[in-house]
Amino acid sequence: MSKKLDCPNCNSPAIGYWKKQFLGPARTIGCDHCGARVSVSAKHFLPILILVIGAFPVFGMLGLMKHGLTSTASLFVLVLLITGVYQHFFVPLVVRSRRPH
Ligand SMILES: [Zn+2]
Repeated sequence: MSKKLDCPNCNSPAIGYWKKQFLGPARTIGCDHCGARVSVSAKHFLPILILVIGAFPVFGMLGLMKHGLTSTASLFVLVLLITGVYQHFFVPLVVRSRRPH
């Protein structure tokens, strides 16, 4: 998928889909169009962080003990898909610093 997302600073479709997927609030990426540093909203990203750090290992361990490796692996894939979709649709891009033209 090579669809570009709109930059929150210049509104040009200049942010790569996968760039956003691997972006966290602690990282910034540069807009290809205006050069602004763009990140994701920490407030909206929090549920993903809680899921990955908290629930992920806990449910992973429980799943492994109760249902075996195959279903646990599918659960992990499912969680990754859900967080990916959530990140794409519900975590807004935010401008961290603007660079003057
Ligand atoms: Zn831009």
